[in-house]
Amino acid sequence: MTYKVNPPKSRHQFEGGAWRVNKEKCVGCGACVAVCPEGIKMGKGGKAEIINQEKLEKCGGESLCQLGAIEKVQQKKTCKSHS
Ligand code: SF4
Repeated sequence: MTYKVNPPKSRHQFEGGAWRVNKEKCVGCGACVAVCPEGIKMGKGGKAEIINQEKLEKCGGESLCQLGAIEKVQQKKTCKSHS
């Protein structure tokens, strides 16, 4: 007899992307905000600030910034039994 195991996605699989703005690289040009106003906005200090990861992903994620200030964050799997 064989058993099919369907582990819950939230604990076993990488889900979507996650980005952050590297404030050192961001020059506050606003190009990313012009393309994706629902995903990113201009924040304090004239630097871009992510407001919605999902919408930012749909807009293109890191490709929105020509200077590479929008960086993808690596996420680790949380399931210890399969690592
Ligand atoms: S993240 Fe990039 S595109 Fe957005 S404001 Fe900063 S430098 Fe400009």
